[in-house]
Amino acid sequence: MLNIFGTSAFEDNYIWFVQPSDSNAVLIIDPGDADPVLAMIQERQLQPVAILITHGCHDHVDGISRLLEDYDIPVYGPRNEFIPNISYPLGRSDDVNILNFPPISVLDIPGHTKGHIGFVIEGNLFCGDALFAAGCGRLHSGPAETLFQSLRTISQLADDTKIYCAHEYTQSNLRFAIEVEPDNVAIQQRIIDTDELRAKGLPSIPSFLGLERKTNPFLRCEFESVKQSVEQQARFVHATPAQVFKSLRLWKDNFQ
Ligand SMILES: [Zn+2]
Repeated sequence: MLNIFGTSAFEDNYIWFVQPSDSNAVLIIDPGDADPVLAMIQERQLQPVAILITHGCHDHVDGISRLLEDYDIPVYGPRNEFIPNISYPLGRSDDVNILNFPPISVLDIPGHTKGHIGFVIEGNLFCGDALFAAGCGRLHSGPAETLFQSLRTISQLADDTKIYCAHEYTQSNLRFAIEVEPDNVAIQQRIIDTDELRAKGLPSIPSFLGLERKTNPFLRCEFESVKQSVEQQARFVHATPAQVFKSLRLWKDNFQ
């Protein structure tokens, strides 16, 4: 059994921790800031054993060097990005085995950044800024098609996969989702559920992939309802789900 918990950083980032329930060993995922991580280690008396990095945005990596001053531990991260201090560069179909943790498999999910990877640990996906609850990452490099294919890769995981993304964007993402699909009752319900959680100061993360499939427009580009909305907005006919995705991402970029 794993304990998974997070700490907040900056405005709306989450830094995730993975701990076997019978040990104080812990993996730290995307420590963009060392201070909240060190506070959590202190509070829960944790023993960091490795750092996992999904991609090189500063709000995911800036805490690494400070943590390495205190802990001599390996850093696992993407092969295709330049990130200082990575000791094990990783890509698709690499498996990571760390002490008494379950095996960790690596997904290549580029598009937000060019080398973005994700980690699957016992049915939990740590997907950085590729997929968000009810949304997806912005395109920092490369064509929309790349991120579209990455979201397809994620879609192949089981419905009960827990999605641990790196930002609390759910409420604003849902405002866009309901604009795209006003008649989608699963989105309507998710807005109520998410507002309730946030009103109590609780995170809306993790979510389940099954719920994302029903409510995240970026995973629904093959649905007629999404295609029609996008075509109304973009004013041209879209031949493929990848084209729908591209226009949807552009629409979201300009959505207030
Ligand atoms: Zn990022």
